[in-house]
Amino acid sequence: MIYLDHNATTPLRPEALEAMLPWLGERWGNPSSPHRFGHDARVAVEGARERIAACVGCRPSEIVFCGTGTESDNLALRGSAHALRPKGRHLVTTAIEHHAVLHTCRALEAEGFRVTYLPVSAGGVVDLDALEASLGPETILVSVMHANNDTGVVQPVEEIAALTRERGVRLHVDAVQTAGKLARRPGDLGADLVTFSAHKLYGPKGVGALYVREGTPLTPVTTGGGHERGFRAGTENVAGIVGFAEAAARTFDGLEAESRRVSGLRDRLERQLLETVPRVSVNGAGSTRVPNTSSLSFQGIDGESIVLGLDLRGICASTGSACSTGEPEPSHVLLAMGLSRREAQGSIRLSLGRATRDEDVDVTVAALAETVQQLRRISSVR
Ligand code: PLP
Repeated sequence: MIYLDHNATTPLRPEALEAMLPWLGERWGNPSSPHRFGHDARVAVEGARERIAACVGCRPSEIVFCGTGTESDNLALRGSAHALRPKGRHLVTTAIEHHAVLHTCRALEAEGFRVTYLPVSAGGVVDLDALEASLGPETILVSVMHANNDTGVVQPVEEIAALTRERGVRLHVDAVQTAGKLARRPGDLGADLVTFSAHKLYGPKGVGALYVREGTPLTPVTTGGGHERGFRAGTENVAGIVGFAEAAARTFDGLEAESRRVSGLRDRLERQLLETVPRVSVNGAGSTRVPNTSSLSFQGIDGESIVLGLDLRGICASTGSACSTGEPEPSHVLLAMGLSRREAQGSIRLSLGRATRDEDVDVTVAALAETVQQLRRISSVR
């Protein structure tokens, strides 16, 4: 099997599994318990927090563990909106955000907040002038993803941070698709809030983190005990958090070299594909992208059929965001980039990872060429 769907999830690193096992077995204490057994678990959670903070480039006290990346996005948006309501009711985001952000914005609109959804260029990049123009005296938060999960296109978040800082507006960055892929430390982006998810960087599923810059106003979304300095009530997932830290430390270590290797493979894949398969285009090709992602549009056929054809040939790909599987709608990201519904429906996403090798790329290109040819033959007969 060739797995090219790393933007949906990544395999757990064996070292992370190893680190987690004791906390799922004999060391099952509650980190909030006052006895020795609880104390051990607390030490493990705080050690993990320190390791993640070191990777991210922030203070350990600025890391809040959450259940998922989705929950971290919810906390960032709802928490900021509720904390800053007395100051204003306007939020700014982009049309290409993950549904964890977009659907939360819709929910906030239902609560009486106003949200501006900024358009993006054909290359998938948000327009800085449009962003600046959207900021008003009522604006309390800007939320922009670091890289898009469908296309891998990277947004100019440092420039956005400079703008928001100048205007006294808080900035949230969803870095789920860049943490562990770009060598840049997320804590250096200049954002007030940054979202991470363990399972996108070879950690376990069901653990996320939100970086909350010291002094950032944030109202908790969950109510209960005072866990995570009051920001996220609920007993910590000790094993998940320990696995997250182990995976993050190993993934951030040697990241520059690994990024270069993976982007070389991705370029090879796209080059070979463009040479072999007619009527294919690479979405966001001219923009800065994370090294591992390739979004491809094939004229005249359905992305879903291509993904099925690849699956039969032992290759795991995706039509876009895994979170939207089951939704017949084409990717909202590609539509926002100006693709027609038909073009967006004819798209697939290949996302490479640590285990991807040259041979995988060559086999995938051959399988894609065969699948596409077959599908186009069938559709011309119909
Ligand atoms: N944000 C982005 C950009 C994502 O790609 C994803 C997952 O695909 C999420 C948020 C949600 O993360 P999680 O799967 O941990 O809920």
